[in-house]
Amino acid sequence: MFVSIDQEQYQIIEEPYYKEVHDEISLFEAAYAARLPMMVKGPTGCGKSRFIEYMAWRLQRPLISVACNEDMTASDLVGRFLLDKDGTKWQDGPLTTAARMGAICYLDEVVEARQDTTVVIHPLTDHRRTLPLDKKGELLHAHPDFLLVISYNPGYQSSMKDLKQSTKQRFGALDFSYPDRDLEIEIVAHESGVSTEMAGKLVSIAERSRNLKGHGLDEGLSTRMLIYAGSLIEKGIEPLAACSVALVRPITDDPDMRDALDAAVTTFF
Ligand code: ADP
Repeated sequence: MFVSIDQEQYQIIEEPYYKEVHDEISLFEAAYAARLPMMVKGPTGCGKSRFIEYMAWRLQRPLISVACNEDMTASDLVGRFLLDKDGTKWQDGPLTTAARMGAICYLDEVVEARQDTTVVIHPLTDHRRTLPLDKKGELLHAHPDFLLVISYNPGYQSSMKDLKQSTKQRFGALDFSYPDRDLEIEIVAHESGVSTEMAGKLVSIAERSRNLKGHGLDEGLSTRMLIYAGSLIEKGIEPLAACSVALVRPITDDPDMRDALDAAVTTFF
């Protein structure tokens, strides 16, 4: 198979570490086979991005990921004319590159992007599979292997910042949440290098915090945060200090909530 240099830089060579939580691997494979655009839903730090990396590796497709933010415009995704010494030159944006190349394009936290940005993805997500490059006067037909994937955190959304139904209804969706206790312990131990006993304590702290969701916390401690705490412990930091730095301080600015979480930490360490 011919692989261009461009394509090579987006190819995932080594198998990413990913533990299946339910049956998301076979569901995503079927979705890819049907070229059904997919939405991965769930709280931050629960494994959505890792899953997409793993699937790109498994399906042997290049992966182009874009972290969306509120300043992002449609041109940032699609491309723009740039000035160089010979005049102006068109530069494809990441979405266009992915559609040309037949990559999986992963738009992380797409709801953060401005509305005009979400509209440009529409024609790529239905039978047309096209991307109009208006400024360039080109109608790009997506490569047959191209797939669009977006991530979406329903917990954060206010009515001001929600995906429109006209966008949502163009995607299949997989729900993600924190892995079950035993699996999460295994993941935290593997990723941070701490023992399963230590990882078990970190997961227990997270479970307590997750019960506080909606009672002063917008979101509980994520798997990612537990891995950060474990990594500090693995570097020789005392567990209490590691939990303060990696778990409690980042997740809340409220002094009462901070004290409540600190107390949860001290029951385990
Ligand atoms: P999200 O994209 O949901 O914000 P990530 O995919 O970045 O979160 O997950 C955070 C970290 O948690 C990953 O880097 C990975 O180390 C770990 N992780 C979470 N779930 C899993 C899983 N099922 N298998 C392997 N690692 C996982």
